[in-house]
Amino acid sequence: MKPANSRPTNIVGAGLAGALLSVLLARRGFKVTLYDRRPDPRETSAEGGRSINLALAARGIHSLERAGVMDRVRPLLIPMRGRMVHDASGSTALHPYGQREHEVIYSVSRAALNRVLIEEAARHNTVEMRFEQTCTAAVPERDVLRFRDRKNPTEYEAPLAPTIATDGAGSAVRTSLARAQQVSVREDWLDHDYKELTIPARAGRHVLDGKSLHVWPRGGFMLIALPNTDGSFTATLFLARAGQNSFAALSNATAVDEFFRREFTDAVPLMPELTREFAAHPQGQLGTVHLTPWHIGGSVLLLGDAAHAIVPFHGQGMNAAFEDCIVLDGLLDRHDEWEPLFADFAHARRANAAAIAEMALENYTEMRDTVLDTGFVRRKAIAMELERRFPDRFIPRYSMVMFHPEIPYAEAQRRGAVQAKILAELDSRRDASGATDPQLADTLVKERLTPIAG
Ligand SMILES: Cc1cc2nc3c(=O)[nH]c(=O)nc-3n(C[C@H](O)[C@H](O)[C@H](O)COP(=O)(O)OP(=O)(O)OC[C@H]3O[C@@H](n4cnc5c(N)ncnc54)[C@H](O)[C@@H]3O)c2cc1C
Repeated sequence: MKPANSRPTNIVGAGLAGALLSVLLARRGFKVTLYDRRPDPRETSAEGGRSINLALAARGIHSLERAGVMDRVRPLLIPMRGRMVHDASGSTALHPYGQREHEVIYSVSRAALNRVLIEEAARHNTVEMRFEQTCTAAVPERDVLRFRDRKNPTEYEAPLAPTIATDGAGSAVRTSLARAQQVSVREDWLDHDYKELTIPARAGRHVLDGKSLHVWPRGGFMLIALPNTDGSFTATLFLARAGQNSFAALSNATAVDEFFRREFTDAVPLMPELTREFAAHPQGQLGTVHLTPWHIGGSVLLLGDAAHAIVPFHGQGMNAAFEDCIVLDGLLDRHDEWEPLFADFAHARRANAAAIAEMALENYTEMRDTVLDTGFVRRKAIAMELERRFPDRFIPRYSMVMFHPEIPYAEAQRRGAVQAKILAELDSRRDASGATDPQLADTLVKERLTPIAG
């Protein structure tokens, strides 16, 4: 395809991935038509609903830098240096994410980040923005995309090829292709849901440490809170849908109040609107999407959450979606046909998407249960020590995922499994004083872990 004279590329979904991808394609001279069912965020205030703020890590930052938009994103970011764990007695302990100054992750407002990316895309005159257009189906055999115009309710069709569907976890494009049996989809829903609540600012200041991600792990469920630039925090409760401690059991204000006072005692005084917000805010579902294939010839490719939505416990869904965008952009150097481009993209990303999906599920158990477990804390300390001693071979898995975009997710998962065995072995053979054997550590690390490339 020749950017200048090929027909416009449709990007369905002007969310995080769709907006960034529009910038990248426009920078290469492609004509882009960007559709979204929402109103233009440049003309409306922030939309309520799905996660108000997100954790941005190195993979996302690397992608935003590659797209040349990081200077505009940086002012939106709040660094978080670790998890501030609130135990049941109300004591807190900071568990740093990494051990180097720059090993932090950033809280960012979804709406503000999305708006910046849309503004950046709009700077290119080859990008046409079409808001309040709901895509209802992709029909490859007829080469059409179907839309409903929400401004003056009409339905219409547009040429399909080439389309990149970035319409998120509930992708309408994916649903229509699945209904036509052109792709197969498995959606593994978690039996835990989430609800967002607010810890407001006091006199414009954060009422908890404003440079941490706060976690109230309670084994089986948890509350977390990420700081916002206005001094507030957005808190999220992750809880089973049904059962003893569950959303179903919190069916009235008294039950909510009692539950929070019992489980999150120190948080309750910071949440004056708790019961009102609990009743008013939606209860969101969480799940993992497994899709095969990710593309139909050179007509349509699914990317970001539309292809591989994951649970949010590693804070990587957006980071992975951004990484998708720069991988696709990089592959454009090698391809001038859509079909091999889409096929290569799927080949490059599928194993990585599967790896982060699994690691994200594992991280839920880690965040809600094991961060309070002494064995976990001990092994984490051993891991940090090994990283100091063998920086080119041993990097804790969490750090590989969050701080090392040069290590693909699948490789982080593979090395992480080897490292977990080393940690278990060293931990089980501690001496009477509790110290690990440095000689054994040396042998295990050098025998089992090759130096990390790059
Ligand atoms: C509670 C929660 C917390 C999270 N926290 C983090 C985190 O800390 N870090 C992180 O990296 N990720 C996080 N994620 C994941 C992150 O939100 C997603 O991975 C990311 O938004 C994916 O980007 P996307 O562009 O693929 O989809 P989206 O950002 O969802 O964008 C989809 C876009 O498509 C539009 N759209 C949808 N359907 C249609 C249609 N039929 N027609 C036209 N337009 C349509 C939508 O309006 C939207 O603009 C979290 C997710 C949740 C649910």
